[in-house]
Amino acid sequence: MLVYYGVCTAVFGLIFGSFLNCVAMRIVRGEDFVHGRSHCMSCGHELSASDLIPVLSFLKNKGKCRYCGQRVSARYPVTELSFLILSVLLYLGIMIAGPEESIRELQFFKYWILTGCLFVLTLTDLESFEIPNGVLAAGLINWIFFTVLETVLRVHNLWWVLHHIIAGTAVGAAMLIMSIAITRVVGKDSMGGGDIKLYALLGLYLGYAGAYELVFLSCILGLIFAFARKKIIAGASKEFPFGPAIALSGYILIFFERYITEWYLRFL
Ligand SMILES: [Zn+2]
Repeated sequence: MLVYYGVCTAVFGLIFGSFLNCVAMRIVRGEDFVHGRSHCMSCGHELSASDLIPVLSFLKNKGKCRYCGQRVSARYPVTELSFLILSVLLYLGIMIAGPEESIRELQFFKYWILTGCLFVLTLTDLESFEIPNGVLAAGLINWIFFTVLETVLRVHNLWWVLHHIIAGTAVGAAMLIMSIAITRVVGKDSMGGGDIKLYALLGLYLGYAGAYELVFLSCILGLIFAFARKKIIAGASKEFPFGPAIALSGYILIFFERYITEWYLRFL
């Protein structure tokens, strides 16, 4: 059963990943992503259904556009496969070790949509240093929807809800104050408004302990990413996208928050 649903998750992960990549690209380019048809980025030719099969059509056409012969960016298969991997890991992580056994399927969908939001804002932040409000709003609506559902199903009580709202607000406020303080001292912007809102959003999902761990982990990952970027891209711009580090930390903590919390509570 686990294998069967795992394979389903992989297939849907690929399709969902392809869609999310398009959403990210259209947001950055200011295109309508609800109605606009998919088209080749070079010649503008509309793509048929068979051109839209993730990864496979890329392989079949040897990475070139069927109409104009221009190379298709490797971004498509890379993002599609990345989201496939993220989806399958999320599925296995929640089904094997997820909290609240009775509602693991529900948890999976809740975090899958969150992962989708994190994925889109990672792509837009990497490309244009922008974390779109619409994507953060989607993450917020998702949290509200599942929180109401889980409260109705008596998975959580109202204290849980209150605790998570306070955690989100607190981590958002803390990062805002820190960013203002750093800006005052250093004299230039340290963190974008999008980053701060992203912290607040993930604080809602992760709760109090998770929010601490999020700040910690994202700073470590941010330093590693910044260092790697400097090494790999010669003359990389001074502006650094911090969103991917926060997003990846949030994704990791979906699984590991309770283990990390248990681990360090032993030292208190
Ligand atoms: Zn073309």
